Amino acid sequence: MWSLPSIIKINEDAAKNENKYVRAVKTLVLNRKRVRCDRCEAPASHAEIWYDIFGPDPKGIMAACEACCENYGLEGDACFHCADCERTFVTNYSWELYLKHTDDGETLCLNCYRAMVATLVLTVIILVPLAAWMQIREHAD
Ligand SMILES: [Zn+2]
Ligand SMILES: [Zn+2]
Repeated sequence: MWSLPSIIKINEDAAKNENKYVRAVKTLVLNRKRVRCDRCEAPASHAEIWYDIFGPDPKGIMAACEACCENYGLEGDACFHCADCERTFVTNYSWELYLKHTDDGETLCLNCYRAMVATLVLTVIILVPLAAWMQIREHAD
């Protein structure tokens, strides 16, 4: 079970490991070992950094060999790609999913989704009525 202290710990480790992961995706070598396919353990031919929604730093890399990448895709079900910030995220640690599908059929991470909703709320609740009110004021004067 994931708890808050473990998420804080994960974030601390992630900050330390960022350069390591960036290098590993390019070289397919991590901790001096050849990166292996997450599914079949064959030497990986594709790798990508993944994030979670709890911090800005990469949390790890996912990797796939040529065959698995072709058959299942690099990301699989464990991860998803955010259409807004264009990062790959872990789908969930616990029961809560860290993604939302928009009405446009896009997949967003919860951080981008919340930002989008906040912008929408700001526009609909504050800016539109404000613009209408200012127009009324203008005509009244
Ligand atoms: Zn494989
Ligand atoms: Zn996002």
